This record gives sequence, C-alpha cells and structure tokens, in this order.
Amino acid sequence: MSTMEKIFSGYHARNALLSRSTHPFAQGVAWIEGELVPLSTAQIPLRDQGFLHSDLTYDVPAVWDGRFFRLDEHLARLTHSCTKLRLTLPLPTAQIQQILTTMVAQSGIRDAFVELIVTRGLKGVRGAKAAHLTNRLYMFIEPYIWVMPPAQQLAGSGRAIIARTVRRCPPGAMDPTVKNLQWGDLTRGMMEAEDRGAEYPFLTDGDGNLTEGAGFNIVVVKNGVLFTPDRGVLRGVTRKSVLDVARGEGIEVRVEVVPVEAAYVADELFMCTTAGGIMPITWLDGVPVKGGEVGPVTRRIWDGYWAMHYDPAFTVEIDYEDGKVKAKL
Ligand SMILES: *Cc1c(COP(=O)(O)O)cnc(C)c1O
Repeated sequence: MSTMEKIFSGYHARNALLSRSTHPFAQGVAWIEGELVPLSTAQIPLRDQGFLHSDLTYDVPAVWDGRFFRLDEHLARLTHSCTKLRLTLPLPTAQIQQILTTMVAQSGIRDAFVELIVTRGLKGVRGAKAAHLTNRLYMFIEPYIWVMPPAQQLAGSGRAIIARTVRRCPPGAMDPTVKNLQWGDLTRGMMEAEDRGAEYPFLTDGDGNLTEGAGFNIVVVKNGVLFTPDRGVLRGVTRKSVLDVARGEGIEVRVEVVPVEAAYVADELFMCTTAGGIMPITWLDGVPVKGGEVGPVTRRIWDGYWAMHYDPAFTVEIDYEDGKVKAKL
C-alpha cells in the first residue's frame, strides 16, 4: 500500500464508524452565542452584518485522526485578520481552543472541518465607530470536507483551468491575506471551470500572473523547484506546511510572482488547502500536465504533509473521553 492509500483507508474506516453514530452532533455541531446546537439547526440573525455586507473574516482549521493540526497558526491568522478589519475576537484564543475541543469531543468526529467566523455584529460601520460595535463569533465543526475527494487524489485526475472570464479581486480592493467570504470572483471561476469540463479554477491577477483558486493556493513544480505566488493570495497554512516539507526534503522553493506561462510549462501542478491537503492537478485547460500523472515531487510533498499530522510539533491531541486537549497549545 502506498502512503496515500494508507492515509485514505484509515480515514474511510473512521468515517464508516462515524456514519453509524446516532449522536445529535455526529454530523456537525455549532456554537451560537454560547450554546451548542446540531449544525443542521444552527441559525444566524438576519441582521448580522456578516450576512448583510459580508463584513467578516473567518478561518478554517481541521482535526485529523483526533488531533488539531496547526491550530495555533489558524488562530494567529484569524486574530491578525480581525485586527486588519478593526474587528475584535470576542473570546480569548485559549477559550476558543477549549470550546472547539469540547465540540469535537462531544461530536465524536475524529476528522473535522472546523470553521470560525467573526462578524461585525448586528450593527454596521455606517454611522458608527468600529471600536464601539459588538462583534460576533460563530463556530462550527462538521465531518472533514474534501475540496478534491480521496478517489480523485488517488486517481490523479484533478482538472483545472486558467479562468479567462474572471480575474482575482485585486489586493487594492480586498486584502487577500484576510480570509474572507467575498467569493464572487471564485464562484464565477468555479462556474467557468464547470463549463469547460474541469473542476478547479486558477485565477490570475489580470496582468498575466497566477494568484489562487476557490479556497486553495497553487504550486507549480518546474525542474524540481516549487513556485508559488507571493502576492494577491491568502497565506495558506497548508502552503506553509508545503514549504516546511519542501525545505526539510531539500527541495528548493520560490515564493515570488508566478507568470501564468509557468503553469503551462510545468512539470507538476498541485493545489493546497486545509480542506483536502495536497491536491494534484494533471490536466490544465484540456491538456495533460507533462505526462498527465501525479509527479514525484507532488508525491513527496503529499506524504510529508500527512506525516506532519501525526507529529506532536504540529498537532494537539484531543481527549474524546473528557473533552480536553491532551497537551497545552
Ligand atoms: C482558505 C483559503 C486558502 C487555503 O488556506 P489554508 O490555510 O491552507 O486552508 C487559499 N486561498 C483562499 C482564497 C482561501 O480562502
């Protein structure tokens, strides 16, 4: 069995167990104003500015095989995003960690997609000072979400397009380092991908350079070197892990402006996100990427990335018995 097959078979076994659970939180649980409710019944007030004006930021950590992965990185990014938007995280991060741990433990979900959303609250910034408003926090967890399903990762059949009907929102309009839900450009990209027989859109900056896609960063491999855009993109935690694995393996990485052309002449291409990990792209704009198979560098990064999920340096184990973290963050 390859490492990929082992990781996926472990996941499928845990997921089969979860699907037999009758616990009301087994398919997801939300924290709304201090109450835990089944995700399917969770509600937000209509007047929340997060809903009315997308005046919010959010983050998505994950739990893999009973361990939070780089939760500290996600909470630091969320805190930083809040500062940029003049939002205040309504709770201290240590308390957030404790609540999330309780949610995961109660639900019994061992592989979880975790989302935290901080909104402006029920009153907006028009006619008010941001500092005087009461911001809101929403949190939920649900079974792990795959931007690229395991079967497609195994088959190496991920298809992408370079979007030509839409460009990525420019940094001067929406700061891309603040994780946000202004997905108009990304949604258009996904629809164009569908129209052109693919699943994944790669958006450009409108000046011939790659940026990112619908919730994922892009990595180009050429002559054994990794290239990923340095601007116009979210600083993904998965991207950071990719860079960590690459450096550990002695693979050169360059975080710089990446022209679209680089994707067309790439030896290998992959996308990366918390919801799915390292996702190989073997077909771009209808043409196979090099041989059309998952390349050796992508495989090394893939294996290293999932190995990190069992490394105490990057993970915090959850105690499902008493709903506590086994180690302090
Ligand atoms: C969340 C997201 C990513 C990936 O970030 P991770 O921290 O790796 O999950 C990339 N781009 C956009 C636009 C995103 O929203």
